[in-house]
Amino acid sequence: MTNAECGSDFPWLTQKAWAVARYGHPVFRVPVDPGWGCPNRDAAGRGGCTFCAEDGGRARQLGGEQALVEQVRRGAAFARERYGAEHLQLYVQAYTATYTSAQNLERTVDRLLNEVPFHSISFGTRPDCLSAATLRLLQRWNADREVWVELGVQSCHDQTLERIQRGHTRACSEAATRLLNDAGLHLCAHLIFGLPGETEDEMLASVDWVAGLPFHGMKFHNLHILRGSPMGEAWLASPFPVLDEVTYLQTLAQGLRRIPANLPVFRVYTDSPPELRLAPQQVMPKGVFLHRLEEYMRRQGWRQGDDFTGN
Ligand code: SF4
Repeated sequence: MTNAECGSDFPWLTQKAWAVARYGHPVFRVPVDPGWGCPNRDAAGRGGCTFCAEDGGRARQLGGEQALVEQVRRGAAFARERYGAEHLQLYVQAYTATYTSAQNLERTVDRLLNEVPFHSISFGTRPDCLSAATLRLLQRWNADREVWVELGVQSCHDQTLERIQRGHTRACSEAATRLLNDAGLHLCAHLIFGLPGETEDEMLASVDWVAGLPFHGMKFHNLHILRGSPMGEAWLASPFPVLDEVTYLQTLAQGLRRIPANLPVFRVYTDSPPELRLAPQQVMPKGVFLHRLEEYMRRQGWRQGDDFTGN
C-alpha cells in the first residue's frame, strides 16, 4: 500500500496513514517487558552490543505472569480511555523477546491474549534467536492475528557488526529474514545510522540491502551514545565524533527514497533518556525533527521510493 493508495501526500509512508488504510484504525501498542534477557549478554558472554545500555543485571519482572497481566490490562485500558483505541497491539519488547523456551513464551503470551483480545502482536528480537519451536508458535498466533517480528539487523556490514559486538553476521540476518518471511510472518527491519566507522555511503548500502530483502516495515534510528554502555565508556575515556542530526536527517531522506514506496516506516528518530545520553548532547524534540525532515524532502521534491532501484 503506497501513500497515494492511503490518500496521503506525505513524503514517506507513516505508520498512522498505513494502519488506517490497512486496519481502518491507528495501531496502539501496549508494551510488555517480560525481562527474558539477551543472548548477546547472558549466554554468549560477549558483554552485549557496544551501543546498548540495557542493564543485564536489571531486576527481572517482579511478580511473574500476574505482573505482566496487570501491565497489559493497564496499558490497554489507558489506550482505550485516552485515545479510543480500536486496534491494540501487544508489543513484547526489551532485551530479546524470543530469548526464552518456546513453552514459556507460549504460556506467557497466551495468558496475555486471554486477558486482552489483541488484534496483533509484535516481537522485538535478534536474527540469531529464532528456534524452530518458536517459529511454529509465531505461526500459530499469526493464524488468528497479525504477528510482526522486529528484527534488529542494524547494518549490512560484517565489519561494523563485529566492531559493535553484535554477535551475528549479515548472512545470519538474511537467513532469518527468509525463514520468517517463508513462515508467513510480518517483518520489520531495524537499522542504526551513525555506527562507528561507517560512512554515509555505507549506511545507504544497508538501506539498499534491506530494501532487497522481504521486509514489510522499517525502523530507522540514529545512534545515541548512552551512559552505561561499552560505547559510552569509550566515549567518556576519549570523546569521538557522533553523527549530527542535520547529517542524519539528510542521509535518512536519501534512505527513504531508496526503500519501496509501500513499506510503512514505523520510526525515524531515536528517543533516549536525557540523563543517560552522552552524545549527541543537543537533540531536537521529535516533532521538530519530523517537521524538518518533511520540509526538507518536500523542498527537494523527494518522496519515499522515488530512488528505489530493486524489484
Ligand atoms: S541491543 Fe539487544 S541484543 Fe544487543 S545487548 Fe542490548 S538487549 Fe542484547
